[in-house]
Amino acid sequence: MSTHPTSETVLRGVGVGAGRVIGPVRRMPHPITSPTEGAPLPEGTTVESETHRLGEAAQAVAANLRARSASASGDAAAVLKATALMAGDRTLLKAASKLVATGTSAESAIWEAAEAVALQLEALGGYMAERATDVLDVRARIVAELRGIPAPGIPEADEPFVLCAEDLAPADTAALDPARVLALVTSEGGPQSHTAIIARSMGLPAVVAAPETVGLQDGTQVFVDGSAGVVIINPGPEEEAAAAAYEQRTPLPDFDGTGTTADGHRVPLLANVGGGADARAAAEAGAEGVGLLRTEFCFLGRDKEPGHEQQVSAYREVFDAFPGQKVVVRTLDAGADKPLPFLTDSTEPNPALGVRGYRTDVSVPGVLERQLAAIAEAASGSTAEVWVMAPMISTPAEANDFAGLCAAAGLRIPGVMVEVPSAAVLARSVLAGVRFASIGTNDLTQYAMAADRQLAPLAALNDPWQPAVLHLVRYTVDGGAQAGDVPVGVCGEAAADPALAVVLVGLGVATLSMNRRALSQVSAVLRTVTLERARELAQLALDAPSAAEAKERVRAELPDLERFGL
Ligand code: PEP
Ligand code: MG
Repeated sequence: MSTHPTSETVLRGVGVGAGRVIGPVRRMPHPITSPTEGAPLPEGTTVESETHRLGEAAQAVAANLRARSASASGDAAAVLKATALMAGDRTLLKAASKLVATGTSAESAIWEAAEAVALQLEALGGYMAERATDVLDVRARIVAELRGIPAPGIPEADEPFVLCAEDLAPADTAALDPARVLALVTSEGGPQSHTAIIARSMGLPAVVAAPETVGLQDGTQVFVDGSAGVVIINPGPEEEAAAAAYEQRTPLPDFDGTGTTADGHRVPLLANVGGGADARAAAEAGAEGVGLLRTEFCFLGRDKEPGHEQQVSAYREVFDAFPGQKVVVRTLDAGADKPLPFLTDSTEPNPALGVRGYRTDVSVPGVLERQLAAIAEAASGSTAEVWVMAPMISTPAEANDFAGLCAAAGLRIPGVMVEVPSAAVLARSVLAGVRFASIGTNDLTQYAMAADRQLAPLAALNDPWQPAVLHLVRYTVDGGAQAGDVPVGVCGEAAADPALAVVLVGLGVATLSMNRRALSQVSAVLRTVTLERARELAQLALDAPSAAEAKERVRAELPDLERFGL
């Protein structure tokens, strides 16, 4: 019989993905640490025994992946099958065995051999370069097998589970199957962390920055309320009823490709994408264009700047997914949580306040001009309407300089991201020199509240519902109007929160850009309010004394959120 939980069993965090579910906990294993370079054969082993051990480990990994691929379907099955083939790849094993023959341990041998293969694949670019990640994944699995510890990545389980982790990395998402993962719970992270972004993009209930969840063990039954931000151990009848009601929620209608309020005020709903595949999926989901192409995703993990042709083809893939539609390209945003060895200084004491985003154009001149040239060439071969914006603009002079660089490259629609409070406060002059602005609420919140967006203890401050952030949005919109009808959109995570999206529209934001899975949620809720009502709700939020109050007051006025389980 289940007993009602005592207060000790309620663990609190920050809710970042709505929904209420019950399920058993599965913890994310720790990532595999690299073995010592060139480590010798372990004591008591021989070249023969170590080679045999390596072969057995690789076979076990391949067999496990094959078995999982047989019980999976669609994309997941194809990915698992391809990874299984990689694990059984003779070239890789041969290279590793050669190293073992020189007296290197199996762990170090496979580590180094895979590294060399991955580098070769990366050098080939395109599809082959994408396979480099698979090789490194296989390597980690083989090393885990050799060490007798759980394989890295999303745990395997027969029944759906609540995934508990310290935080999740973007790479973890590929293997995340929403049919198996009921909810995400992390001890670290904040509302703008990767976990929050993943949860929203997959429509999963999620609670982040819940420090006490580090003690949760595999198999423990928990109730997760992603709106309230609580995790309850050993849930009772009340939670069971709440989870059952959530299960009965009205399914969201698919997004029909037209964002609008109830009274027909158009708010184009665009997508945030990181590359071609993402863009094609967004187009399929009905996105009215791309509101943020994070071009640094084409650069991440590289130790040198990608060449012109490579950049042109990466951008063109995105443009081709949206013929005749708007695609907003953001120039490289390196630094802080997205360091790039050829652009950013890893020894900076305060990277979030350092030479990042547009500022790297001063420390490493040339990269931005070459990127703009590649964007212009990709644009010239497509019908997409290409807009280009720079991240981390802080002054009118920076905005004007960027507009000048765009003009020189033949790019006609320059814009800026408003992520630094100075740009919001001086929006009238900052926007006077450009054609549009897009507010990055993730960074705008971290800078307005002086709260690192990655730090769990500051998660409550780092909330775009903070009235101070909403006032900065209002300044930016007003500044845009005064600068001569310069439209202001939002492409931070705030736009993907259906209730906050209504507030943003009420504040005068012209477009909303989000991960594709949020399109149907935002569209459905936006259609339940008139523009006038959205303005009233925006005022309610602006006048609230805290982020929590702002959110609560607005949500209480939007009963359809509950109906849709949002
Ligand atoms: C933002 O800061 O809100 C934004 C959209 O940019 P990123 O999350 O890539 O920093
Ligand atoms: Mg940003």
